[in-house]
Amino acid sequence: MTTYASFAAAVGNTPLLRLRHASEATGCEILGKAEFLNPGGSVKDRTALGLLEDAERQGLLRPGATLVEGTAGNTGIGLALLGASRGYRTLVVMPDTQSREKIDALHVAGAQVRLVPVVPFTDPGHYARTARRLAEEMNATDPGSAWFANQFDNTANRDWHEAHTGREIWEQTSGQIDGFVCAAGTGGTIAGVGRALKRHRPDIRIALADPAGSIFARYVQTGELVGEGSSISEGIGNSRITANFEGAPIDVAYSIPDDESVPVLHDLLRREGYCVGGSSGVNVAGALRLARELGPGHTIVTVLCDGGMRYQAKLFNPDFLRSKGIPVPTWLDEAFPAAA
Ligand code: PMP
Repeated sequence: MTTYASFAAAVGNTPLLRLRHASEATGCEILGKAEFLNPGGSVKDRTALGLLEDAERQGLLRPGATLVEGTAGNTGIGLALLGASRGYRTLVVMPDTQSREKIDALHVAGAQVRLVPVVPFTDPGHYARTARRLAEEMNATDPGSAWFANQFDNTANRDWHEAHTGREIWEQTSGQIDGFVCAAGTGGTIAGVGRALKRHRPDIRIALADPAGSIFARYVQTGELVGEGSSISEGIGNSRITANFEGAPIDVAYSIPDDESVPVLHDLLRREGYCVGGSSGVNVAGALRLARELGPGHTIVTVLCDGGMRYQAKLFNPDFLRSKGIPVPTWLDEAFPAAA
């Protein structure tokens, strides 16, 4: 019998799931790292743990301190739950466009939640800047009472993924891996995993799957800082190059529109029973593109970042999808018969 002593001990060591339909369609082995099985429900439990343990090691956190972060939600959920297990409070600042389910989960997890409008990063009201300012204000009146986690630019995020997520993938595949593909929000996952895998196998193909509206894909392709369009996916894409993204060893970048990624995630649920969120749809769509580029016979790993129930009112809501011009599969329409 294996038992884990705490929330932190249960983070990571997630299984690789064979994505049958994607594998059969391409002749590759396409494997998804099941990050939705982390105790807080997403890959960002890893980030939260990596940042928190780094800060504790540096003596930056006093007992009962408040963890402060700007987040699309998942990092906040991880911090709040870890905080509950270690006696810290949590304050998160979040754009008001994020899913209701994540906001509810944050409240349940005991976080104080401040929602702010979406504004450019240069605006002082930006969610990450607001979080930094609130932590600074708390520390000005009571030094050491708050710690700003800073997931976008604190490279302890990337380093944790390099030491853990990347190592796990290398060991789980016994080094039989030809490509890795995922989206970036902070860039911690792709930079950390990419570095770990390239160290073992320099010719491995690292691909970025980027949602419409983000600047990352074009930056990798041409060095320009422009994004076009928008996406209903949450937690991925960015309007600036973060410290965690900078220097990530990326060989190729794909810009993935919602009408490509959402059907992929609908299929994952319908055909294989995996209910995943929007970023996982982007990732698996990216894995399909990489598989077609590499050709049959290759093994490709991607990330299933979180569960679809966190976005039920968007990703599985026919009216919402139609309002965004995204195709609605018949089974989904039939799952919501019009009220009699
Ligand atoms: N998927 C989801 C659902 C997320 O919340 C995030 C992080 N915000 C990511 C993917 C991206 O991961 P990273 O920050 O490591 O680039």
